[in-house]
Amino acid sequence: MKTTTPIQTETESAITCDRCQANCACGDAGWSETQSIEFVAGYGSIFGDGNTVAIDLCQDCLKQTLGQWLRVTSHPEPTKWPLDNENDN
Ligand SMILES: [Zn+2]
Repeated sequence: MKTTTPIQTETESAITCDRCQANCACGDAGWSETQSIEFVAGYGSIFGDGNTVAIDLCQDCLKQTLGQWLRVTSHPEPTKWPLDNENDN
């Protein structure tokens, strides 16, 4: 017989854009378009060896700050499964 103990977990419920301070709660329209960058700087980095660098940006700030360098490509239509064509008459 196993005995269990409930544990408390955390999940993101809101993200605040570090540039414009816009707050986006989980489920809001912009939630999935908020972008986060986080990495640990390596040896010789201008950010300092071993330092963590992080930023959260809403889609507007991402485009305004990095837009001219972003590589934005469209994706082709997804391939249809054969069963999807059976009802196309
Ligand atoms: Zn923003």
